[in-house]
Parts: sequence; structure tokens; C-alpha cells
Amino acid sequence: MSFFKAIEPVFNSYVMANAPVKQIATGFDWVEGPVWFGGMNCLLFSDIPNNRIMRWIPESGVSVFRHPSNYSNGHTHDHQGRLISCEHGERRVTRTEHDGSITVIADQYLGKRLNSPNDVVVKSDGTIWFSDPHYGIKTNYEGYQSIQELDCQVYRVDPNSNEIEAAITDMQCPNGLAFSPNEKQLYVADTGRMFSDDPQHIRVYEVDSHNRVTAGRFFHSVDSGVADGFRLDTDGNIWTSAADGVHCISPQGQLLGKLLVPEVVSNICFGGRARHQLFITATTSVYTVHLNRQGLR
Ligand code: MG
Repeated sequence: MSFFKAIEPVFNSYVMANAPVKQIATGFDWVEGPVWFGGMNCLLFSDIPNNRIMRWIPESGVSVFRHPSNYSNGHTHDHQGRLISCEHGERRVTRTEHDGSITVIADQYLGKRLNSPNDVVVKSDGTIWFSDPHYGIKTNYEGYQSIQELDCQVYRVDPNSNEIEAAITDMQCPNGLAFSPNEKQLYVADTGRMFSDDPQHIRVYEVDSHNRVTAGRFFHSVDSGVADGFRLDTDGNIWTSAADGVHCISPQGQLLGKLLVPEVVSNICFGGRARHQLFITATTSVYTVHLNRQGLR
């Protein structure tokens, strides 16, 4: 079987015919939020309905990292190597300090509770950008069913002042997000389609030198399922989740090729020795594949 489907010839140089898409852990209910910690040679990811964060180490496999996890979803790390987490259960974004204590980055806006922070990215200036759709409070499956107090928006937090701003307010259900290599563009997935006829596409926003988001437009709509989470490689290609695997989209918005995964994919991250390895969270399992590409730091 082939693990790949090239749409454009260049995609054949991004993958290797002898590098399989391989399952490395399974038995979960809905995995999300993969993040690689190179210094500890491990992958963390959320098993959201089971209220836990898992850790996978190449030599020893998978174990529980944190339980309960407050139904955590997306993760990243900041420039000091600290874990940044979106928590559905406590409706907040947190940072895990090096001593293990938890610092709340954001849990409200204009005096109202956040919905259920979903995914998060840290810019090179240290600002923390996260999406806040309502998925984690709509049912008791991935958090606690409760009242929505705010529209679904993207927020920016200055971790020094804890100042929080609504950066993007024109989306239905903002979800995965990532910056372009020069950080002048912010890509954000809108997964409104999961609950209605609303959009299911990635939008791209211009970000000025003062971190103001000035304009947004349609970027790409995956042809299978929804783009939930994604990361970029060093050339600015977007590697996004989809129902049939991982799609590679050029900076111009063109589908270059697909990695075929046998379960619906939620999110991905780059990791491994040279950030050349893709980790894929997909429904009940985690998969990995080595690429001839490097993930953006
Ligand atoms: Mg997500």
C-alpha cells in the first residue's frame, strides 16, 4: 500500500517511499494537541474524553503524564520550554512551570468566562495566541456542558502584563492556528461546519508589527472533513489535519499532496531529532512518519 498521494510532483520530494505512516499508540477516544519536547525526547498529547494528557517516549512507549487534565486539548511550548495548555474543563489557558506548578494565562475576557480554549501558538515575541470555540462546553464528552458567555474568537495574551485582547472576531468556530515563517500572517482554521452549514476552511490574517490583525481572507478548504489543527514547515507549507489523513498545502493555498491515515486526523506536530518527523493525532491513535521536510520552530 502507499502511504502517500502526490497531487503536485514536488510532494514526492517531501516524502520517502520507504518511510511508513506508522501507528505508535492506540486505545484512546479522541486524541488532540500533540507537542514535542526535544530536550526530553518525548511527545505529549491529549486524550480529551478520558481527561488525561499522555506522554510517548520512543524507547519506552506511552504512559499517563497528567490525570485529570481538566479536559485539556491543544498544547504548545513557550520559548523557555514550558508547556502551554488549553483546558476545556477549567475554560482557561495555563502554563506549567519548570517546578510543576500551574500558572493561569487567561480564563476570562471583559469579565466573562472563556468558552473552551482549543489550540494555542506562541509568537517569537512571547505573546500567546489561542482560539476559543465552544466545543468543550456544548456537551459533557470533552468537558462540562455549560453556558456560553462569549463569542468564539481568537485572543492574544501578553504573558508579562496578562493583558488579553480579542484579536480575531469574524470567525464562526476558530480552531487550529499557526504563524507563517515571517510571522506576518496568521493561519486560523474555522471548523464551524462540525455543527451547521457554517464554514470549514482555513483563513489567513495579516498581522502588523504591533500585533494588530489587519485583514483576513479565505485561504484553503480541505476536500475531506475539516482542517482542525496544523503546523508549518520551514518553507511555509501548511500540514493540516483532514478526514483522510494529513494534507500539505503550499503558501499559495494549493494542495500539494496527502499522507494517508486510516483514522480521522485531529492535529499534527513536528518533532524528532531534526524536527523532520511528523506526529499525527487521529481519533483513537497516534501515528508518525519521517519526512524530507523540517518543521518550523
Ligand atoms: Mg483543535
